[in-house]
This record gives sequence, structure tokens and C-alpha cells, in this order.
Amino acid sequence: MGYLEGKFNKPNLVTLSYDKLMNAARSRSIWYLTFGIACCAIEMMATGASHYDLDRFGMFFRASPRQADLIIISGWITRKYAPVVKRIYEQMAEPKYVVAMGSCAISGGHCYDSYNVVQGVDKVIPVDIYVQGCPPRPEALYRGLLDMKNVINRETIVVK
Ligand code: SF4
Repeated sequence: MGYLEGKFNKPNLVTLSYDKLMNAARSRSIWYLTFGIACCAIEMMATGASHYDLDRFGMFFRASPRQADLIIISGWITRKYAPVVKRIYEQMAEPKYVVAMGSCAISGGHCYDSYNVVQGVDKVIPVDIYVQGCPPRPEALYRGLLDMKNVINRETIVVK
């Protein structure tokens, strides 16, 4: 507070770019979809719960893809399930982000080279952040989500 202290006592003016303003708002209000697939989902729930408490970063579970900014893929995707994941992703409004959580979501994990499991969710939808581990601990997911914030902060917004 030292630098800013006393600077806003009188009428003042703050200037910043539209990108920075929008990115600051978006990166501090990432609502992620209530969507779990496999064992990694338990770690995701633990990350959102009281001990790790993602709420303090403005991150909340949302039950509808139409109100969610982020989807965390927390498990393996079977070929039968892949169209469902794609449809849910398409139902999310832009801008939208994807975190692949755990080795199953990243590469098929223990189902690597299996006939019925997709070898990475990036074969189905675009992925922004990969969080490795089996399962990744909440700290690792936490780190991935903070990296996600940095990705959003660096975005350039094109107004059409
Ligand atoms: S990475 Fe490990 S913990 Fe996560 S879904 Fe796969 S087997 Fe389960």
C-alpha cells in the first residue's frame, strides 16, 4: 500500500488499456464447470473445498457450461465419451479455457495405447494448461490454475 497511499484522496484519473481491464476482470473471476470424470476429480474437489479454497481467487464451481469459463478435464476420455466432452465444450461461451488434469487427460495415462481411450483430451478439444501427475495434488492443480490466470492476463482482446 505504501506507493499508492494518499494518491487517491483527491479527485484523480486512472488510465489503462481495455485489454488490461478486461483481462484483470476475467482472470479474477474464473468460474469452472462442475464436471468430474475419474479419480482426479476427487483432487479437483479437494482443491475447491475449504482447505485450499479457490473461492478466494474468485473461482467458483458453476453447474452450467453456459455460465462457466473453464473446464477441468479430470480423468481419461473414452472414445464413446469424447463427443459428450466436445458438446459440453461447445456449449460454453467464449472466452473459454481448458485444463487437462492428470496423466490420463494429458496422454491416456495408464490406458496409454488402449483401443477405447483417447490418447489425450487435446485430440478432442484445445487445451490451455496441462497439470501433470497421477493424480496431481491440489497444490499442482492450484499452480496450474494460477498459470491459467497468467495466460488470461496476457491475452489481446479483439473487438469486432
Ligand atoms: S491420472 Fe491417475 S488419478 Fe487421475 S484419473 Fe488417471 S488414474 Fe485417476
